[in-house]
Amino acid sequence: MPSGSFSIFCGQCKELVLRYRKEGSGALIRVYLKQVLEPKYFKQYQYAKLKSEIPCLDCPQCQQRVGIPMIYESGNRPAYRMIKGSFFKKES
Ligand SMILES: [Zn+2]
Repeated sequence: MPSGSFSIFCGQCKELVLRYRKEGSGALIRVYLKQVLEPKYFKQYQYAKLKSEIPCLDCPQCQQRVGIPMIYESGNRPAYRMIKGSFFKKES
């Protein structure tokens, strides 16, 4: 299975939003908190049980919303549901 890391950039101002360890290939629909490499402060949310514990994913520069918190698979996988068209990714 291909794996690697991606950088996700704001689609509006092109600022780096996060770096992500990706498993598999295909469209990026969800970003799991456990797989976020940077910024490090996301680590504190990787065991969140409620989506209300997780801040929305916004561009650090222009504040455009890029992802919405969710808990995937009945409480096990805190994640961001990525907003289509709000970001772009590059392999890094
Ligand atoms: Zn931005």
